[in-house]
Amino acid sequence: MAYAVTLMPGDGIGPEVVEAMRRVLEATGIAFEWDYQDLGLTAQEKQGTLLPDATLESVKRTKVGIKGPTTTPVGTGFRSVNVGLRQALELYANLRPAKTYEGVRANFDNVDLIVVRENLEDLYAGVEFDTGTSEAGLVIEAINSQSAKKVDPKAAITIKMITEEGSRRIVKFAFEYARANRRKLVTAVHKANIMKFTDGLFLRVAQEVAQEYPDIEFNDRIVDNMCMQLVQKPDLYDVLVMPNLYGDILSDLCSGMIGGLGVAPGANIGAEGAVFEPIHGSAPKYAGQNVANPTAEILTGALMLRHLGEIDAAERVEGAVARVIAEGKDVTYDLKPNRDDPTAVGTDKMADAIIAALG
Ligand code: NAD
Repeated sequence: MAYAVTLMPGDGIGPEVVEAMRRVLEATGIAFEWDYQDLGLTAQEKQGTLLPDATLESVKRTKVGIKGPTTTPVGTGFRSVNVGLRQALELYANLRPAKTYEGVRANFDNVDLIVVRENLEDLYAGVEFDTGTSEAGLVIEAINSQSAKKVDPKAAITIKMITEEGSRRIVKFAFEYARANRRKLVTAVHKANIMKFTDGLFLRVAQEVAQEYPDIEFNDRIVDNMCMQLVQKPDLYDVLVMPNLYGDILSDLCSGMIGGLGVAPGANIGAEGAVFEPIHGSAPKYAGQNVANPTAEILTGALMLRHLGEIDAAERVEGAVARVIAEGKDVTYDLKPNRDDPTAVGTDKMADAIIAALG
């Protein structure tokens, strides 16, 4: 049976890298029924909205979407693509693997980390009060009547919100991912020594959940120490799970360690479905020129294969990408030692080489 997947090419280089990904995934022999839908500026131009209802309906129906990057129009008043998709499917887990590929210029060797970031809670839940507003005044008054420590009446406030349920499902997600993908260790990252109630709750729940997975090792690290350890001995770590803000920062740190955006895939996974997308943007200056590196989008496709339970096909795709990059011949300009190298190939030719390397 073919997998029904909503395919959203997006803007800029999106359609080119998405087409490369589609061809590679189909070459694994897995069958897909792609439902093409507009998203981003392309949708704005054709349908008058960045996130058309038809696109949302399709993702709700298929429960699996894969997208290219979208261009964010400057200015306000636009319906946010990511927020809309996230809300529609309650995408609570942001999954960002960071793996060293031989042949990609990077400052670190042997990095193979999975960052699992909670996507809906923490300081990013969006509960904020601006300095000097009457709302902030009321909140500060309430806090000061209850707390021995006082908040400055002129403070701006952002609420850090962590729930037991939100912590439990993200940590369970990390353990389930570890189990399904033959990973050995889950590390919970937190600052529970200082934020005893919020991060303390996250850590306590993580320790409880870990008991349910005796086949997978568990430890925890305080976030500042984690940063230092990641740059000193990344090979000691495997799957990292953490609240929203730390995940935002550490996932970029890990992407930087492996050589940046061109090779960094990503996924947003939720209770009602999942949407897969590379970390990079739409690189408008390269749109339509067949020069963009398709690696991140293809590795994003491999993540989707894993989500669908097609682990062998995912490993074949990742292996083929690794071989093509290591050989360094049929790769895009950004993967050549010299960016002006005339032997650099286009997006489509790099996809051809990956297909040939699937074996
Ligand atoms: P960008 O990722 O598009 O570009 C950053 C740099 O990396 C540029 O030099 C670009 O040319 C290069 N680059 C990116 N992807 C590449 C690839 N696959 N191959 C070769 N080179 C690549 O980031 P930006 O310039 O900050 O943003 C451009 C647009 O993309 C903006 O509208 C931004 O809002 C949007 N954006 C979208 C997403 C998303 O849809 N998830 C993510 C980030 C940025």
